[in-house]
Amino acid sequence: MKLLLHMCCGPCSAYPIKRLRDMGYEPTGYFFNPNIHPYKEFKHRLETAIEFAEKVQLPITVDREYTLEAFLMSALNAPNGRCIVCYELRLRQAAKFAKENGYEVFTTSLLVSPYQNHEVITATAKRIAEEENIKFLYEDFRTGWYEGVDISKNLELYRQPYCGCIFSERDRYYKKKNKK
Ligand code: SF4
Repeated sequence: MKLLLHMCCGPCSAYPIKRLRDMGYEPTGYFFNPNIHPYKEFKHRLETAIEFAEKVQLPITVDREYTLEAFLMSALNAPNGRCIVCYELRLRQAAKFAKENGYEVFTTSLLVSPYQNHEVITATAKRIAEEENIKFLYEDFRTGWYEGVDISKNLELYRQPYCGCIFSERDRYYKKKNKK
């Protein structure tokens, strides 16, 4: 079955790719993440995703679209929090790409992270799958979080210190400073 894995980054894709291959899928990676700021960091993560794909012989498509203004406007105006619109943006694009390119099913590496809102990601992906008329594969990749960390370290991949957007980049310093 042709499966598209939306890759939020290289390191987070390490365990999902292993698990999907163990399950009998031949996944293709798809990088689409205009939520990553600043642009230099976006490029670094994109290059790391390509490096990862080469190291594990994973076919990959990268979408270099970088709609910074649109992302910031939607994140700032999001009534229920910026992460919800961030998941929606990326998963919608992945589902559309999968549908247009003959994939039967899609899933996302976002499901590996214990730091993301797993339930919201799952509900969003299921809704989008129905709306775009494509299957979504749910798998709780969080069980392999530490295994994925080990794989990414063994592959000597760059591991980013914050989620992605400029708000999360601020929070890693600002919140710590305020706690002190
Ligand atoms: S914290 Fe992460 S998931 Fe939430 S909006 Fe920022 S980049 Fe997206």
